[in-house]
Amino acid sequence: MAERSIEIVVPPREPHYVGDGFRVHNFIPSGYRLDMERMDPFIMLDYGSPHYFPPSDKPRGVSVHPHRGFETVTIAYKGRVAHHDSAGNSGVIREGDVQWMTAASGILHKEYHEEEFSRSGGDFQMVQLWVNLPAEFKMSPPKYQALSHHQLGKHILSEGQGMVEVIAGKYEETQGPATTFSPVHLMNARLNQGAEADFSFPAWFATALLVIEGKVQVNEKEEVPANHFVLFGTDGDSFSIQALEPSVVLVLSGQPLEEPIAAHGPFVMNTREEIAQAFDDFRKGKFGYLE
Ligand code: MN
Repeated sequence: MAERSIEIVVPPREPHYVGDGFRVHNFIPSGYRLDMERMDPFIMLDYGSPHYFPPSDKPRGVSVHPHRGFETVTIAYKGRVAHHDSAGNSGVIREGDVQWMTAASGILHKEYHEEEFSRSGGDFQMVQLWVNLPAEFKMSPPKYQALSHHQLGKHILSEGQGMVEVIAGKYEETQGPATTFSPVHLMNARLNQGAEADFSFPAWFATALLVIEGKVQVNEKEEVPANHFVLFGTDGDSFSIQALEPSVVLVLSGQPLEEPIAAHGPFVMNTREEIAQAFDDFRKGKFGYLE
């Protein structure tokens, strides 16, 4: 197994607000070298680093908006997110939970701080990752996978080093519960101080990590602090993470779709004609209705 080199360590950009509830650092596609083509099949990653929101009677968030052509994956690390959609689905993403929403042919939804969290205020930390869909599935029916923390695959590391929680794909023999439309591995490494975990994915997969908490060393040489993103090269399959402090690291690896990308705001398709169609369908109410 050849070691995968570190291509670049990307510090968090200045945060911006999505709606009034999500204070995020965008890594994909605006981070240096993290454009959609390089990160294929990952087309967007917004990271809300830990931030205290004071109590509010009116839940902060993002009002009704559409999506078509991809999946949105929301991981709550701190705080709680409530969502509602035009198909009548709703739910709460609690600490440690993951929501894997397949927007596919189109959905309207809204995403807010959960009411009780909003009223009491508190620390909020989350990731939203967009995974592109292969052309043949872009117009398939929308669906949800609400994955609670206890459903995630749990691989216990030896000698009390911690665990790897698998959301999608595989770590060693542990499978994650999320079903995907192309090969995607997504997992949280929860490492105790001094722990070391090894990861291996096909070399050509777009592979990266985000340090959610703590401080790690990658491949026994590069120190990476919290809120920093590491993009790996495609020159090898394996890398290692050493926890210099108790750490949580989000690891992502996906097989590139290698299809043309036409992206405009909440629509990610293969051609400009399909984007125009999405706007047209949206105007005509074909995404349904949500107050
Ligand atoms: Mn959304």
